[in-house]
Order: sequence, then C-alpha cells, then structure tokens
Amino acid sequence: MSNLWKISGEGRSAVYLPELDVPETAVPQKLRRKEEPKLPEVAEMDLVRHYTNLSRKNFSIDTHFYPLGSCTMKYNPKVNEVTASLPGFRNAHPYQGDKHSQGAIELLYNLQNQLSAVSGFDETSLQPAAGAQGELTGILMIRKYHKEKGDLELRNKILIPDSAHGTNPATAAMAGFKAVEIPSDDHGNIDLAALKNECDETLAGIMITNPNTLGLFEENIEEVIDAVHAAGGLVYGDGANFNAIMGIVKPGELGFDVMHYNVHKTFTGPHGGGGPGAGPVSAGQLLKDYLPGPIAVKEGEVFHLKQPVKTIGRMKLFYGNFGILVRGYTYISMLGAAGLKDVTENAVLNANYLKALVKDSFPAAYDRSCMHEFVCRGDIAEGIHTLDVAKRLIDYGFHPPTIYFPLIVPEAIMIEPTETESRETIEAFAEALNKIAEEAVNAPELLHNAPASTGLKRLDEAGAVKNPVLRY
Ligand SMILES: *Cc1c(COP(=O)(O)O)cnc(C)c1O
Repeated sequence: MSNLWKISGEGRSAVYLPELDVPETAVPQKLRRKEEPKLPEVAEMDLVRHYTNLSRKNFSIDTHFYPLGSCTMKYNPKVNEVTASLPGFRNAHPYQGDKHSQGAIELLYNLQNQLSAVSGFDETSLQPAAGAQGELTGILMIRKYHKEKGDLELRNKILIPDSAHGTNPATAAMAGFKAVEIPSDDHGNIDLAALKNECDETLAGIMITNPNTLGLFEENIEEVIDAVHAAGGLVYGDGANFNAIMGIVKPGELGFDVMHYNVHKTFTGPHGGGGPGAGPVSAGQLLKDYLPGPIAVKEGEVFHLKQPVKTIGRMKLFYGNFGILVRGYTYISMLGAAGLKDVTENAVLNANYLKALVKDSFPAAYDRSCMHEFVCRGDIAEGIHTLDVAKRLIDYGFHPPTIYFPLIVPEAIMIEPTETESRETIEAFAEALNKIAEEAVNAPELLHNAPASTGLKRLDEAGAVKNPVLRY
C-alpha cells in the first residue's frame, strides 16, 4: 500500500498541465538526460490515498497522549497556524528593510517584552533556533563577560549538576570550558557541600535547570546562586522546564543572569520530527549588552533592529525562526499573564495527580511533591526492565514516556502529562501503567514480548542512532 511503484501504471497521471500557449521547443541535446528519469505513474486519487495513509501512520499530539518527560508535548493550538500563515508574516522577506517590516518587527519587540516580563529579566534576544543553541548563546555571553574583565584564562570551568540534560555539558565544552559535574543529594537537590567546594577563582559559572530533570524544584536555589556569585561566577538557567514555574517564579528575580526558553516546548511551537524550534535568551543587567542581535527596539513610534553594544554577534541568520516566534507570540497573547499562571498550575497538578495514581506500582524516585513531571523506575519485578514497560505501553495505545533519562535514576521513566490533557486521559494512562505492573508479576512474557500490537517489534534503536541509513 505504501509503495508508489506497486500502484504505478504506464500512462497514469495526477497532473493536468494547461495547454501550451508558446511555441513548443525541444530541450537542447546537451541538457538532456541519458536515460528517462524513473518515476512512478499514478492517478490523482491513488496519490492522495498514498500520502493520506502515510500521514496516518504518524504518531502525534493531535492523535494521542504523548507523555514524553522533559519535552513538554502539549497541544499546539491551531490558531497559531492561522496567525503564522497571515500573508504579511508568511510572505515577509528578510531583505525588505525595516521600513516595510514594521508589523513583523513590532511582533518581535512585543514578544521580547513578554518574555522579559514573564521571566523577570531586562532584555531578550529571539535569535537562537533551539534550546541547545540558546544554551550556547548564554555560555558564550558569560565567556565574553569574563574575557572583558580579563580573567577568562583563570575562569575555565562551568559547573553542571549530574541531573542535567546532555546538551549542558556539550554546550560548556563547545564554548571552550571544562564541564565539572556536581552530584545531587538525597532529596534530588544540588549537593551544597560539593557545590561550594568548586566555588573558587577558576569558576566561570553554573548551568542550572530549575525545576531539574527529576521534576523537582531546587530547594536551595538562592543559596546555590549566592555561592556562585560570591565566587565571581555567573548563573545560566536552562529554561526547558519553564512550563512548571512561569507566572509564579521569575528566574531573573531569583538571581539568574541569563536563561533560554524553548518556544517549541513551553509556548506551543509544534515539535517532534525535528521541525524548527526557537530558543530565545533573556538576560539581566550584567549580561544584556552581550545578547546576540539584531534586537527589536522602539524609537518614538518606529520599530528598528539593533545590535546590543557588546554583542557576541549573530547566532543565526536574520531574526531567528520567525514563524515559530509568531506562534509563541500568539499563544502568550491569547493567554495573558493570568492564563500562563493557569497553565503552570494545571501542569503541576496533572503531574502530581498522575504520580499519586501510580504510586503503588511505580513509586517516584524521590518522595517529594513534583513539579510538571516526575521520575520513577521501571524495574518493578524480577527480570523486568524499563524498556519492557515502555514497549508494553504501546500495546495499550500510549506513547511511552522518556526512558533511561535522567541518568542518575537507574531504569528511569520520566513522565510529563502537561496541562492540556484531561482528567480522563490521565486516569486511563494510570490504569494502563497499573495493569502493566500486575502483568509484570503475573504474566511477565507479555512485557518481554511487547509490543505485540505493532507491525515491527523491538527495533535496534542504538544501531539506528550509530549507523543511520537515511533515504527519502
Ligand atoms: C529539550 C531540552 C534541552 C534542549 O532543547 P532543544 O530545543 O531540544 O535544543 C535542554 N535542556 C533540557 C532540560 C531539555 O529538556
């Protein structure tokens, strides 16, 4: 069914070209191919069925619950697509100049201000294309700050808690720093003694995800920030988990110096499938002049684009991923401050409700109330691994959560239901998990042989990453 060659028949066609209204001329001999291109020939309806059926094989948030921890797979409102496809935005050309781009620059200006307001920072750059690029942006800003102070030679290390996303140490290394891991304590917080031990004259800064990837709020966050600042280091915030605190906690007021957002997570840019993202970066007084430009500014009634005075330079061509920024702006504008707070409260409520519903079969790794996600373990019975639980969930019609991350919890399962799921969906998912826990004891072969419901069974996932065979 999904092979165009199988339904190909000579002379069939799905295109109807208009009558020629110019003289017919042969393609010059030297431009001709030696062989005719091999193309399938199909009728329009067969073509439509082919692609419609292919599209229905996709798993997406529009079809199913998608509780992928750390990824914030929330519903992406369709109104975002309407605004992003308004002709003035969709057809804007980056070279048409400020004068003819006033509406687009105004949108950038407003979005910068919205993000600065919700995070408590002074200035925002919309340049970076993703969270990881936002991280690199922030650490390069910290690097330039130390360089201008003349102590970059000495300050060569960035501290990174052991619960961090893998992009954090990769970022520090790419920016030329040594990444030093800080362990977590028994409560899932940054180990204060270990942190203070590293707060010396070689410290450039720290990267903190709050709440961290265990779904836990750093209980000593102010003490951590003070210790780093006292040693002359700066504090970077990985804002991927902003969905758990926006409208309630402002990282800029907590003492963070710079932070990125994932518009494609928190602010409903569609994601999954590697589509474009956006990772704006906000900074406080100390670092705002180092932000990458151009940044939108308003002078009188006119909008301009400017480079901050000490900018690290561009991180991306033009103005960032503009179409995703339109979507984020639409989302924030529709919700307003009160709506964003609602989002946070419901994201946290949903995660805690789900955590409570499965606590007897999948107890959380840390016995604390969680933020927008929680981490438990999948080795719930003799011979059962997290992978078995994840694959069995597919048979119950659910996308498995994130597994084997964060690294500090063995056999980790990381569940993030998001605020957009109904109580019924969360209860159905909990019921599936609880049934799987019973099967793990009474019928473990169901887990070992899962998924039973799919055409292909267990795939060589590590092999697929290490030896990709790409074709289209
Ligand atoms: C998703 C994520 C990132 C990276 O963001 P991308 O947009 O995927 O580059 C960084 N840190 C954490 C905690 C994340 O969840």
